[in-house]
Amino acid sequence: MTNSGKLLIITAPSGAGKTTIVRHLLETIPELSFSVSATNRPRRPMEINGRDYYFLTTERFREMVEQGAFLEWEEVYTDQYYGTLRSEVSRIRSEGKVVIFDIDVQGALNLKKEYGDQALSIFIQPPSLEALIERLKNRKTEDAKSLQKRIDRATQELTFKDAFDQTIMNDDLNQALSSARKIVREFIGPSDLH
Ligand code: ADP
Ligand code: 5GP
Repeated sequence: MTNSGKLLIITAPSGAGKTTIVRHLLETIPELSFSVSATNRPRRPMEINGRDYYFLTTERFREMVEQGAFLEWEEVYTDQYYGTLRSEVSRIRSEGKVVIFDIDVQGALNLKKEYGDQALSIFIQPPSLEALIERLKNRKTEDAKSLQKRIDRATQELTFKDAFDQTIMNDDLNQALSSARKIVREFIGPSDLH
């Protein structure tokens, strides 16, 4: 399997549906491999360390910043850090797979700048800010403070949608999944399996 080092960057405000779409792409497109980010935010009950994130203490996260372990990192919310590990990206690329990132808007802009045409950046758009808030509430993963931080940031992040290569409207989920599959398949080329 050779994919000439292609990378796929999925971005959107929290609650737009990135995780849902990324999981579906990973299940249906075997050439993809997920870049597991590091974060110091608390693990949610359904999350697994090393699969969803590497959950680190704030001290460890800072140490790794000092050591230059991150390709990019952001304080996405006050006191909450997220970063892309150089080791993840090099491991996946050396396996000949296409790296897929689930990353905030600023991180996505940075990675796109770094990789240029090798990377495809996709913005997942919620039907409205109200729908996004509703989804975040229904997901029941955030306390009131964390929910408010996400809503505040979403308002700003939504204004960046034109900065990316493609936009997928995530209103009807099945349509969004199907259009994500199509865009990604076009980007990486026909499957080796057929
Ligand atoms: P993100 O990773 O961008 O924060 P998630 O994938 O966790 O977003 O989605 C946020 C919530 O919205 C989840 O509970 C998910 O099941 C739900 N969701 C995703 N897409 C849709 C959709 N098209 N319609 C309704 N709910 C959705
Ligand atoms: P969550 O806490 O909902 O999992 O993620 C919050 C935000 O951080 C999301 O927008 C998510 O895409 C982003 N994020 C996750 N990993 C990284 C990363 O490695 N770098 C950056 N810049 N953002 C990330």
